[in-house]
Amino acid sequence: MLDADFFRRWMAATAASVDREAERLTALDSPIGDADHGSNLQRGFTAVRATLEKDAADTPGAILVLAGRQLISTVGGASGPLYGTLLRRTGKALGDAPEVTEEQLAEALRAGVEGVMTLGGAAPGDKTMVDALVPAVDALRDGFAAARTAAEQGAEATTPLQARKGRASYLGERSIGHQDPGATSSALLIAGLAEAAEA
Ligand code: ADP
Ligand code: MG
Ligand code: MG
Repeated sequence: MLDADFFRRWMAATAASVDREAERLTALDSPIGDADHGSNLQRGFTAVRATLEKDAADTPGAILVLAGRQLISTVGGASGPLYGTLLRRTGKALGDAPEVTEEQLAEALRAGVEGVMTLGGAAPGDKTMVDALVPAVDALRDGFAAARTAAEQGAEATTPLQARKGRASYLGERSIGHQDPGATSSALLIAGLAEAAEA
């Protein structure tokens, strides 16, 4: 069973890897965006970490809803509302259970990813965070390590794609040949699950 501590570890591990990878995320956002993805997410997950340190949220659902709300209010740009929706929807789907199973988390994350697709209008293959998240959710039935690998492969597979959503889509064919920053950060989020499970 996955308890509140697991979800706190997940958010903390993600905040740490976003800190470590912020420069790389911003560098990826330079040729096909506006070079702010790393700093956007760093600001967001720093706020998530600070809020979770002072807030007593003690269920998996409450922790994710709180984290999502922080991302929406602190991250400018496209990725804030999208990541915020992902975590809030996932948290709402978990309800107020004190512990959840891996299957319940997988189902809730699927609802969260559907929320991202509804809000942003992106489908798999559009060169967005959806390209890492959908394969990760599909692989979650085989465990967290499988989900991490699937997300990383999904992010790498965005390189040859032409962007059809977000800022990168303004570049048309010139978006081809660059890995999508949001898919890359989504792989960090999913890797955080595996790290939380290993701890
Ligand atoms: P901005 O483009 O506003 O500067 P960020 O740089 O923080 O925002 O985030 C860019 C990332 O957001 C992209 O790499 C992409 O993965 C994701 N993204 C942008 N638009 C969409 C969308 N409509 N649906 C899903 N993901 C999107
Ligand atoms: Mg950007
Ligand atoms: Mg921006």
